[in-house]
Amino acid sequence: MAFTFPQVPFCAASWVPAGPCKRARVYQQPNVSLHASTSQPAAPAQQSEIGGKARQPQPLQPPVQSQTQSSPELWHELLGADEDEPFNARARSASDAAVLRRKGHLKEQDFLIEFLLRMHETHTCQEVFQKLDKWIVEHRRDGSRSRLKRMVPTLGSFFTPLNLVEAFQEYDRFFALSRRTYVPPNFAELRHILNIAQVHASAQSLKLCAFDADGTLYADGHHIEHDNQMVSLIVSLMRQGIYVAIVTAAGYPGEADRFEQRIEGLVNAFRRLRLPTSITDRFFVMGGECNYLLRIDGASKQLAFIPDQTWKSRLMMSWSEEAISGLLDTAQEALKQAASQLRLDVEVIRKPRAVGVVPKQATIYEVLEEVALTVQHQLADSALPFCAFNGGQDVFVDIGNKSIGLEALMKHLHVLPSQVLHVGDRFTISGNDKATRDCCCIVWVANPEETGFFIKLLLNDIRANRAQPYIE
Ligand SMILES: [Mg+2]
Repeated sequence: MAFTFPQVPFCAASWVPAGPCKRARVYQQPNVSLHASTSQPAAPAQQSEIGGKARQPQPLQPPVQSQTQSSPELWHELLGADEDEPFNARARSASDAAVLRRKGHLKEQDFLIEFLLRMHETHTCQEVFQKLDKWIVEHRRDGSRSRLKRMVPTLGSFFTPLNLVEAFQEYDRFFALSRRTYVPPNFAELRHILNIAQVHASAQSLKLCAFDADGTLYADGHHIEHDNQMVSLIVSLMRQGIYVAIVTAAGYPGEADRFEQRIEGLVNAFRRLRLPTSITDRFFVMGGECNYLLRIDGASKQLAFIPDQTWKSRLMMSWSEEAISGLLDTAQEALKQAASQLRLDVEVIRKPRAVGVVPKQATIYEVLEEVALTVQHQLADSALPFCAFNGGQDVFVDIGNKSIGLEALMKHLHVLPSQVLHVGDRFTISGNDKATRDCCCIVWVANPEETGFFIKLLLNDIRANRAQPYIE
């Protein structure tokens, strides 16, 4: 049985309800028809037609079974986390401050998840994920002409197979999604199911785990403290032979100590635990999205810059100082104009590889979002790659983006996209984690507590896969 929706659903420009009957509703796009089955799982042959031609059924790869699952204890721990404190510093959404407390609608935008939400009007959860599993197999064969690409045109790549039915069933065992009649899954629940599937898939071949910093490893504007649970999780990943990189917008050219201040608890733990160089060599910090790379110096055990020429791509090395300052000048003007248009008094912050505006008065998330998107639009023809993003308390334009930085690091470490997982909290159109979707697998978290949850799940999987005894 599909969920009973109380009203006409949201209708995006490319998705038009074609009939009045809710259970038989068909969403149409040119040359695509999706026929919803409300009683039986879809057969591989599907009734769908692409380009007017019926497709022959093809054998599908069996999804990989995960060896471990998220335990009730892990979910209880996550549910019991204090959600208020870490988000006190963030700009709240005017529409949700009293209701959702921490996440505005604008912070929960994703075309695939929104498509899956709409599918629940005519499908059960099980049916949605059965279809998605098959569509992803097809999309991985030919990402440019797949059914999924036609239905979600902005979709990128899936770098690993995903078993979403199994992830749904795992989530369902704890939250009884399949037993709900009137309340369909919300955005965050679908995000969790996608994350669970990705963690189980990535655990089998993971070589590099990258983390955003603010909002992912610690609350915005904070830093990793000595007793932070993230310290032991990151050290555990490194002890499992996995490279760990913190990939952040924060950029302090020539000031390694300022980078170290943000992760002081972690670097101190490396020293306190007397981790050998063979383990600390697996740790990196990528700053300014892609502009600075640091690692732990073997002798001093402190963070130190890695010379640009040893890791930056030829393209990155070709960015001239003249072109960089030209783009930053244009960005600065665009930021000031957009803020002025919205009657927002701001302070301008200019750095060698970034420029940003910080409101001088209290404002709301939507205003910062408008500034970020306006500047993105105005810089669209820029010759240099850039990242214009809503930082939650400010809006910045950085030279390059996290995808460029991660790709350079992946080449430096000789790892493939399927062996990399980036954990971040800002994957919307104005978020600076969004670019990483182009180069590796991702886990989308809402706060550091969720990061802890998924890394514990990942470590459980890795240990089970390697048949090592689990010792906390
Ligand atoms: Mg963040």
